[in-house]
Amino acid sequence: MKTTNKFEIDKNDLTIASKQLWSKLEPYIYYLNNKEKEVVQLAFLQMVEAHSQQRRKSGEFYIIHPVEATITLAQIQLDVDTLAACLMHDVPEDTEVSLKDLEKIFSKEVVFLVFGITKLGKIKYQGIDRYAENLRKMFVAMSKDLRVVFIKLADRLHNLRTLKSLAPEKAYRIALESLEIYAPIAERLGMNYFKGEIEDAAFPFVYPEKYKQFIQLSDVEIQKRQKNAKKLMKKMQILLDKEGVKNYTLKGRAKKYYSLFKKMETHDNTLDKIFDLVALRIVVDSVDDCYTIFSMIHKVFEPVKGTMKDYINKPKPNGYQSLHISVRDTQTGQPFEIQVRTHDMDEFAEYGVAAHWAYKAKGAKVVDIFLDMENLKWIKDLVSLGKEELDHEDYLNHVKLDLFKDRIFVMTPKGDVIDLPEGATPLDFAYKIHEEIGSHAFMAKVNDNPIKLSDSLKNGDVVTILTDRKQQPKLDWLKWVKTGQASKQIRAKLRKLK
Ligand code: MN
Repeated sequence: MKTTNKFEIDKNDLTIASKQLWSKLEPYIYYLNNKEKEVVQLAFLQMVEAHSQQRRKSGEFYIIHPVEATITLAQIQLDVDTLAACLMHDVPEDTEVSLKDLEKIFSKEVVFLVFGITKLGKIKYQGIDRYAENLRKMFVAMSKDLRVVFIKLADRLHNLRTLKSLAPEKAYRIALESLEIYAPIAERLGMNYFKGEIEDAAFPFVYPEKYKQFIQLSDVEIQKRQKNAKKLMKKMQILLDKEGVKNYTLKGRAKKYYSLFKKMETHDNTLDKIFDLVALRIVVDSVDDCYTIFSMIHKVFEPVKGTMKDYINKPKPNGYQSLHISVRDTQTGQPFEIQVRTHDMDEFAEYGVAAHWAYKAKGAKVVDIFLDMENLKWIKDLVSLGKEELDHEDYLNHVKLDLFKDRIFVMTPKGDVIDLPEGATPLDFAYKIHEEIGSHAFMAKVNDNPIKLSDSLKNGDVVTILTDRKQQPKLDWLKWVKTGQASKQIRAKLRKLK
């Protein structure tokens, strides 16, 4: 958020503020070595100097903003370059100090990241064209270095937390965009911490009335269940100790507001059927421990039918792993969701792809699935979609659709995994494999049974496409496909045929 110099800033005040800010940030970077800490400090000093005369709309010193954003990233233990770049993310755009100046002081890597963020620009909504253009830039930046997006998300999160000082109309627009674009991006990257925080910060500004109602309706119930969760946690603790489980962490957390609100909307606005209002989480050292605890839970509590989910064996498309089950508390009859996972899985569940970077920075080996960049192919797809001549509104719609829809994984007969949005059809699948297969698709088989080209695919389907040379795309096909890629290629072909 850009600011104007309404009044001069006293040098002494700034010195005091910057000292306070540095001592706030410093404890968070304990995991860096001394040399790296020096780089962060250098970036900090550079940032303070560059922004010295600026205040935010709230009247605060501007320097608070980059520091707060950087703290968010330090909490995930991201590498030194990301932190340094985050500290200076607004410098080239908002101050006299240019990228060239930074090049003289900082490594290529740091400057590249600052450059990436700067190129994204401030999203000032100036009609749909500018907006779509910004999004394109973002996916391009993401495909080059994901860390640009971590910085962008941290930047956005702090802006959302300080939305109050903006004019309502502007606050609404930023909050809405965060719900529509940034939260889904965070989700797709498995960064649930960011997703949840962004959504909850944006919620009151996008749906002020519904937010008020929601708080009134849910507050009492959430507190009641949290109380019960505490009791259940004690009980669980005794059970775990008895079982001899070592080094576990028990967490009892209320569901985030916005996701609860969304869930309520699909359940007739009642909380009765929502079991994970407060979820109990057991975090342990090994996968073996997870299953041991899981079977113990089955013996001690009464599971709610159909709620058992093994995401350890079958991770979610974004890589999330955990065991889930809802059980009834023997005393209250109240259902609770229990999640069991390892410490690594827990970290990954909160920070997703960003956790890779943290692990990488620490030089640790990570379980394969964490580093499976195939999972990130969708970013490249959105980039290639962006380069084409799709008009801005179409592009925007596709981005939203591609981001919002849950993903499914289907397979080729050879066992290659293809990632598609939920509701995708064999045609989407065919175009994803190759344009030629798409445009000549004639028939499809799922697990050897023939299905229509317009039928929806399901997770785990093995899909075979039969082609016919004489086959050509038809206008109807546009209604059948869900992916931007397929509809782009169908359109192009239809134009040619004309
Ligand atoms: Mn910023």
